[in-house]
Amino acid sequence: MGQHSSASGSRLLGLDGFQVVSAELQGGEWQLIVQTTATVVGCAGCGVPATPHGRRTVRVRDLPIGGRPVVLWWRKRLWRCREPACQVRTWTERVTAIGPRAVLTQRTRAEACRRVGKDAHAVAAVARDLGVGWATIMRAVRDYGTPLLEDPTRLNGVTTLGLDETTFLKATRRAPTRYVTGLVDLEGGRLLDLVADRTRAAVDRWLGARTRDWLARIGTVALDPWRGYASALVAPLGHARVVVDHFHAVRLANTVVDQVRRRTQQATLGHRGRKPDPLYRIRKLLLAAHEQLTQRGRVRLRAGLALGDPTGEVVAAWQGKELLRGVYAADGTADARRALARFYHWCDGVGVAELSRLARTVRTWEAEILAFHSTGGCSNGPTEAMNLLVKKVKRVGHGFRNFGNYRLRLLLHCGVRWQTHRTARLRGRYPRLVA
Ligand SMILES: [Zn+2]
Repeated sequence: MGQHSSASGSRLLGLDGFQVVSAELQGGEWQLIVQTTATVVGCAGCGVPATPHGRRTVRVRDLPIGGRPVVLWWRKRLWRCREPACQVRTWTERVTAIGPRAVLTQRTRAEACRRVGKDAHAVAAVARDLGVGWATIMRAVRDYGTPLLEDPTRLNGVTTLGLDETTFLKATRRAPTRYVTGLVDLEGGRLLDLVADRTRAAVDRWLGARTRDWLARIGTVALDPWRGYASALVAPLGHARVVVDHFHAVRLANTVVDQVRRRTQQATLGHRGRKPDPLYRIRKLLLAAHEQLTQRGRVRLRAGLALGDPTGEVVAAWQGKELLRGVYAADGTADARRALARFYHWCDGVGVAELSRLARTVRTWEAEILAFHSTGGCSNGPTEAMNLLVKKVKRVGHGFRNFGNYRLRLLLHCGVRWQTHRTARLRGRYPRLVA
């Protein structure tokens, strides 16, 4: 392209109000000299037509073209007011596509937000791709992401509310583990919000911020067997059915299996589980649903237990977990009651401390566990899926320190709907009409 503006080049750039003066490929990057098409502007102070006062070039990064990074050399116009009585003397032009002192065009900032939010790319990776700092990208994520979160229609249409506790920060030597509570739309399968803490007060505050209509539409609440939640629900959601869903009950039982396994390892080997230890090697098999194990898995499980569980306590805990799973697999409430009786009978009989504690928790939550069947097996899929997404975002974020950023990232990934352009198919899925 020559030193004159190119109409097709400008169309390809597609940046409102700008034209391309020249384009050059340097070191694999497009260097585009651009300018605005404005020729006449009035002074903001007096309205008299301004006179050009030279140009100043600023460089900003724009979206890639043809897979190549793009740098815009914007020949920014300076204007001057000639009106003697006017206070305004000179100014530089302003455009909406590029903010003052920006290093990225606005559309690039929006795209950075989409990559970090929707695609869960690491902020550092996006920053590297665009040749800017981490803070620049994070600012773009906040600027473009916050309105999506604050959209008042975002929380519409929720009928089944799930409450889930996840760890936010693992304990360090200086600080205890910090928890957050995730609020999930179990029908729509999306994260509604995240509140810092897993206490009654935290959930209470969130529910308190909802309208009466919104609360009235919630028919079922599925939760973690954590006492604080239940009491938080009483006032605003007294009309809803409370369910301890499959996912949370099994997670609780799995924790018990893990505890007994660790205690047994310590008692028999005198140290924490290591790679070659028989129980450590079957730790994942112990947590898996029994009917989903392969023949080989079952053989390994039996062999590991025969070697590493001389007192039979791990087997007992494992059996307890499977019996609790049976309560959820039961065919209707009456059948679930019988399964529950088998579970209690087992826990009372084997005398494993951790299992007895589990049985006590289950007794406390018995009505909510059985309610699982009367709500037509309130799905735990979304909670489970949400937990996987949370883990993914956490992994990408390399452990968050800042709750605000964490909430923003998670909600952008699994709590908002992204408007995306549907790309036209070049080849249809139907047989060609012309042979
Ligand atoms: Zn003026």
